[in-house]
Amino acid sequence: MNSGKVRVRFAPSPTGPLHMGGVRTALFNYLFAKKHGGDFLLRIEDTDQTRYVPGAEDYIIEALKWCGLNPVEGPGIGGDFGPYRQSERKEIYKQYADQLIESGNAYYAFDTPEELDKLRAEAEVKKEVFSYDMHTRGKLNNSLVLSEEEVKGKISSGEPYIIRFKMPENADVVEKDLIRGEVKFNTAQLDDKVLFKADGMPTYHLANVVDDHLMQISHVIRGEEWLPSMPLHILLYEALGWRENRPQFAHLPLILKPTGKGKLSKRDGDKMGFPVFPLLWTDPKSGDVSRGYREDGYFPEAFVNLLALLGWNAGTEQEFFSMDELIDQFSLERVVKSGARFDPEKAKWFNRHYLQEKTANELGDLFKPVLVEKGIEIETRMLIKVIEMVKERCGFVSEIWDQAGYFFEPPASYDEKTVKKKWKEDTPDKLNAIIEVFLAVENWNAEQIKEAFSAFMNKKEWGFGVVMVPIRLALVGSSQGVDLFDICELIGRDETISRIRKAILTIA
Ligand code: GLU
Repeated sequence: MNSGKVRVRFAPSPTGPLHMGGVRTALFNYLFAKKHGGDFLLRIEDTDQTRYVPGAEDYIIEALKWCGLNPVEGPGIGGDFGPYRQSERKEIYKQYADQLIESGNAYYAFDTPEELDKLRAEAEVKKEVFSYDMHTRGKLNNSLVLSEEEVKGKISSGEPYIIRFKMPENADVVEKDLIRGEVKFNTAQLDDKVLFKADGMPTYHLANVVDDHLMQISHVIRGEEWLPSMPLHILLYEALGWRENRPQFAHLPLILKPTGKGKLSKRDGDKMGFPVFPLLWTDPKSGDVSRGYREDGYFPEAFVNLLALLGWNAGTEQEFFSMDELIDQFSLERVVKSGARFDPEKAKWFNRHYLQEKTANELGDLFKPVLVEKGIEIETRMLIKVIEMVKERCGFVSEIWDQAGYFFEPPASYDEKTVKKKWKEDTPDKLNAIIEVFLAVENWNAEQIKEAFSAFMNKKEWGFGVVMVPIRLALVGSSQGVDLFDICELIGRDETISRIRKAILTIA
């Protein structure tokens, strides 16, 4: 069946925003496909109508696009194996469910949800868990128990039914996982999973296996939470006569909380102040908003880089990878089995790195909307200079404002502590003298301002700090900021003097 070409799929269910673990699954699939000259496709697994969330599919597509993980086949893209939305492939699955019944690998079950609930409740009383399996199936309302006539009668009278897989009784299923090595399961612990539901839709298991086969998927790379489903999937391939051509499996390690204990959840992000979703998400029902890496100001390169290292490493010291480098170096052999701890500080560190890689021009373009929103107009030349000066202090574009706001508008207040410590009774006199010095500077540039200032200070024998901190207070509003004379040059002589005058008038 499989032509030997690498074909992998990302197969999310549109039940809400994509968790960052989902994006990592997509990324590893993408890298694997690219590395092997194969195809990366997107399949939307939306057979569970009860869990369908409007907007989730668009969200998934946008998130992949933002990360640069572009599928070659998928909804809205097309391809030879479509449609790529399972709800549009409804007709395809029934025949395989029928085939499984025919071959004795599946059966009809007519038990109503109420009957099953009752059995569950009864088991609970006995501190047991009800399971529809080899031990119970013989006593329940299904085609293994009923006569052929009865079954036919029920179906033709329109009685609702589901189709269950008939799990072999005591068989070992051994499969090689490309990350975990040989994995062994015994079917005695497995129940008779539902394959086809009363609403005419297949369950995840049937649709997933049928589609992976029909779409000629060569490798199934997915999260560890699907490992328990692997034996059923292997048995389904076998029962459908596809065992020889089944895909190879690779189950990716969990992404763990920053503490290293347990799976990373949205709650961890809320508690500790970091996103767990790629993009901002507004829940269509509750209106609750969840933050996203994109809106929090992360660069997609940084996000992709940090995801790549959650469970994979190149086996070298290298930590920064472009997408091309990832494609070049990625291999499933270097994906680890154990969970990968997520470190939000490291995420910020990655972003800082990619911000430093950008030119002041690029950052200027990204920062301009912030200025527009604040109604600040500024010459691009000046903006670029400002950014060049503060860039190394920033890890996010939004921090440019925190670090450079004083270049664009005079301080609205003065840091009280600094005022208390450094603003003396004679400070206004001293600053007035400095204004005179500044007025006399011939060419208003940092070097000359500094020269004139220093000469004057030496003549007066004033301590530098005694005057420089108050000037900084006047220009910046605090004791922070880049080189004082650079600030003077950039904001200009008039603005420098006007800010000093304003401080003299304001700070009592
Ligand atoms: N629809 C499943 C999910 O939501 C896909 C699992 C798989 O890749 O087989 O993750």
